[in-house]
Amino acid sequence: MKVPLLDLKAQYDTIKDEILAVTVELYESQRFILGPKVEQLEKEVAQYCQCKFAVGVSSGTDALLISLMAAGIGPGDEVITTPYTFFATVGSIARVGAVPVFVDIEEGSYNMDPRLIRDKITKRTKAIIPVHLYGQCCDMDAILELARAEDLLVIEDAAQAIGSEYRGRRAGSMSDAGCFSFFPSKNLGAFGDGGIVTTSSGSLYEAMKILRVHGSSPKYYHRLLGGNFRLDALQAAIILVKLRHLDRWTAARQNNAARYRELFGRAGLDHLIRLPLENTDRHIYNQFVICLKDKRDELKQYLQDAGIGTEIYYPVPMHLQPCFKYLNGKGGDLPIAEAAAKETLALPVYPELTYEQKSYVVHKIKAFYSS
Ligand SMILES: *Cc1c(COP(=O)(O)O)cnc(C)c1O
Repeated sequence: MKVPLLDLKAQYDTIKDEILAVTVELYESQRFILGPKVEQLEKEVAQYCQCKFAVGVSSGTDALLISLMAAGIGPGDEVITTPYTFFATVGSIARVGAVPVFVDIEEGSYNMDPRLIRDKITKRTKAIIPVHLYGQCCDMDAILELARAEDLLVIEDAAQAIGSEYRGRRAGSMSDAGCFSFFPSKNLGAFGDGGIVTTSSGSLYEAMKILRVHGSSPKYYHRLLGGNFRLDALQAAIILVKLRHLDRWTAARQNNAARYRELFGRAGLDHLIRLPLENTDRHIYNQFVICLKDKRDELKQYLQDAGIGTEIYYPVPMHLQPCFKYLNGKGGDLPIAEAAAKETLALPVYPELTYEQKSYVVHKIKAFYSS
């Protein structure tokens, strides 16, 4: 049996007719950049995420970058975030000239530990970027309370968390801005790069719309220094189709997670392996990540030989990345994140995964521990 980490072809096969219809329509229109499809997507995503506005952009990375630019964050500023994330979170902070400041993560959720934030706040701190990792929201009430008290901006990196909820509120709606990615492997993935920023702030919304087109307003007059952060109409049209299916796919991912929990329990593996903690209302399982105290790399290889795809998100925490050497991070600074980098493994959890495939995955993990 083959169990890939992700099977985008299986999903495409279920929506092929709808996708082909909208792409042909777009070819006929020959309107490829921004335009009505992007505007419609912005309306629908804003609504889906319980926000007033959304701005379609070229990637999740650019969503982060343009949010920081619109908020006026730059040289001399510090931004508090997590070391246990995809590079773009931290790369964007550094690219606007600000200094990333790390707090360690919580053991069970792998999200930023809000209890550690206060100690990192200085006169230069301007913002906090929590990352809703693997599809589950951070402890936002604790983060927002601190931010309010210290007058800090909060930008949610919700690239892995579209539709995820925390106490009834959707990811991307709880702070000044929410950054989403349409990278193909995300829960709502385009046929290429794309992203969107949600906000309910009129001033951030206006600033981002201008920054997205090189800071041009009106055309060819540049008050601000922006960039080309535009979203393709083709990607917007595809995302609009897929958005109609998102809740069904999310339910299938949640069902996969529930079945894994049963299967691991029945196999007697839940003592050897820590299953993902579910401590919010609506975990959308962009990833189903297990934690093993040892032999993670051996298990990964064993599963690969058995036809099962897995991945390590992420093997090197950000404070130990060579390009951030100037921040003087060293091993031992952020022990929970460093341990997670050595002990976690993402299993296939995509919506089209069958019961037989999940059983096979758990069966093989059991076989590895029995050998
Ligand atoms: C995917 C991802 C991004 C970047 O999105 P791209 O569309 O690939 O630029 C940023 N942050 C997190 C947490 C992500 O998972």
